[in-house]
Amino acid sequence: MRYHDVRIGLVAHALHHGTACFEGIRAYWSARTEQLFLLQPAPHYERLRQSARLMRMSLAPTRDELVELTLELLRRNDLREDAYVRPILFKSGEVITPAMDHIAETFAIYATPYGKHAEATNGIRCMVSSWRRISDQAVPPRAKITGAYINSCLIKSEAVQNGFDEAISLTMDGHVSEGSVANLFMLRGGKFVTPPITDDILEGVTRGLLMRMIRDEFGLETEERSIDRSELYGCDELLLCGTGAELLPVVELDRRPIGDGRVGRLSGRLRECYLAAARGESARYADWTIPVWPSAA
Ligand code: PMP
Repeated sequence: MRYHDVRIGLVAHALHHGTACFEGIRAYWSARTEQLFLLQPAPHYERLRQSARLMRMSLAPTRDELVELTLELLRRNDLREDAYVRPILFKSGEVITPAMDHIAETFAIYATPYGKHAEATNGIRCMVSSWRRISDQAVPPRAKITGAYINSCLIKSEAVQNGFDEAISLTMDGHVSEGSVANLFMLRGGKFVTPPITDDILEGVTRGLLMRMIRDEFGLETEERSIDRSELYGCDELLLCGTGAELLPVVELDRRPIGDGRVGRLSGRLRECYLAAARGESARYADWTIPVWPSAA
């Protein structure tokens, strides 16, 4: 459908209760090969299914059908530039009750041109948020549910209002969780460390990719363990990562420089390597992407 032909009711359950599961997927245009590369759609659709299960919502198409639909959508939109794909499964029924069963659901995917999330060449400045990350005991952060994103909105807005680029949230018991829409890695004592999936993070696709890249490029395993806030202040390198965020080296936290206050050596290398892989320009990581257009060959 054309965007302006889509109709959503004012009383739609999802609008009032945040009852929707969604994903954010990127496609990158490679000018070198004149090809659009869809980045890791399958894990995003697997996570969407997990979110739907948690919400007892039903996602009829299989993972492979969803990937095919996405490729077709990009082709029909004739996209030949960096793009963002947003699948969303939402309670479209017009019912006034918090009970979620027997409410009509709608599934949609839209694609739109989309460039950079943030300018990150020189790194970003962060604060530790005064808002806590939502707890799995209240709103499960491992599901990508629209209603849960008010937490990210509060975290991000506080950072921007205070003159920072981003904020890092802590769990209810004070461990480092993640950025507003990005996972976190720290380099400390020659080791990469990232919070475990039980510290109220979204189980990021990019997080998984970076763990693999850290192994392949540097021969290092990433330790998954709880991180204390004070560890961040003394760490050697810090970075945030996500599909939208890409890879954001953090150069300052709460007005303390990270390392020497410049983009860390390994973070800078990872960022270049990640962006090349995402753009389909790296032979080593060719399996990360799916070409959208039939190749000239
Ligand atoms: N955490 C949150 C809260 C997010 O919204 C995102 C973006 N989806 C991420 C982490 C990063 O996840 P991914 O790498 O799968 O995009």
